[in-house]
Amino acid sequence: MSERGTPAGAGAARDPLLSVQDLQKHFPVTKGLLKRQVGAVKAVDGISFDVFKGETLGLVGESGCGKTTTGRLITRLIEPTGGKIHFEGHDITHMSQGRMRPLRRDVQIIFQDPYSSLNPRHTVGAIVGAPFRIQGIKTEQGTKKAVQEILEMVGLNPEHYNRYPHEFSGGQRQRIGIARTLALKPKLIIADEPVSALDVSIQAQVVNLLEDLQNELDLTYVVIAHDLSVVRHISDRVAVMYLGKIVELADRKSLYEAPMHPYTNALLSAVPLPDVKRRKERDRIRLLGDVPSPLNPPPACRFHTRCWKAQEVCSKVEPPLLALASGHQVACHFPENAPAGATGAEPADGNGTQGEAAPGEGATTSS
Ligand code: SF4
Repeated sequence: MSERGTPAGAGAARDPLLSVQDLQKHFPVTKGLLKRQVGAVKAVDGISFDVFKGETLGLVGESGCGKTTTGRLITRLIEPTGGKIHFEGHDITHMSQGRMRPLRRDVQIIFQDPYSSLNPRHTVGAIVGAPFRIQGIKTEQGTKKAVQEILEMVGLNPEHYNRYPHEFSGGQRQRIGIARTLALKPKLIIADEPVSALDVSIQAQVVNLLEDLQNELDLTYVVIAHDLSVVRHISDRVAVMYLGKIVELADRKSLYEAPMHPYTNALLSAVPLPDVKRRKERDRIRLLGDVPSPLNPPPACRFHTRCWKAQEVCSKVEPPLLALASGHQVACHFPENAPAGATGAEPADGNGTQGEAAPGEGATTSS
């Protein structure tokens, strides 16, 4: 599994394939027979980002940070509470299911668990061919031929057409899941923890397959994962989420080599290093306490209850997601690794573009 290079111009001034603005999903919490609403779980609470054609955006964070909910919102499996989702310039936020039908071909999702996401009573042919049948776009014979071609593309034998999921290993089942998403030649694939249920030895094969398919079919990915090593290998840009908010967004190299948000630093310090010497030299940042409840998140900076750099302002004023001149976005009053003179920034608009840095404003460098 080799680390990918950042495509030239990723994030530069061009129209995004997907654009998310101030997206929110609050799940109501009800009580009693009358189901009176007594609160809301703020799973996603006002996030903005763009995804450009041909790139891979990694979405990382601890479980419960809202990354899976974000994937489901983008694919319209659940309805947002607020905000906007644009795909190829079309506002799909509240588009009816009927009008969404043609768009469903373009946006597909790979589910986390290859064991539960495939119907055990259906053959591989029925599973991978289902999108053709649902959309009514091929004859039975045409479907069989297309399915067998796709099986070959994902490294499976076309003769597997009549076999059942239980006859396959975990890695092969995930390949069947990937084949199903490819059937309708999508433009955007949301991969929700695509390798977390697989053995480590198989993970690299599936990640390499996703990369090969991206190059071959000109795919765009949003890869949701808690494993920062996987995200590092597959992503061009990475967004870090904490309690329903994006706290940092940058190209892969900047984020991994010079992370600015204390939470990102803590996550990266926990990534296992194969080199024992480097592992011993590295300071591990141990976060205190559990992730607070999204039912009642801490005010202002949501990370202040666990942050070793927190000061009074952190619990009083919410740090906005600011874009530095480099395009690196961070939501912190005292970011780390901020380049000298990069103390000025403007609110991020999701794609990393920003105006001229104004000295003395915005993000503050830590010493
Ligand atoms: Fe820590 Fe304050 Fe930055 Fe929040 S704003 S991450 S509490 S330093």
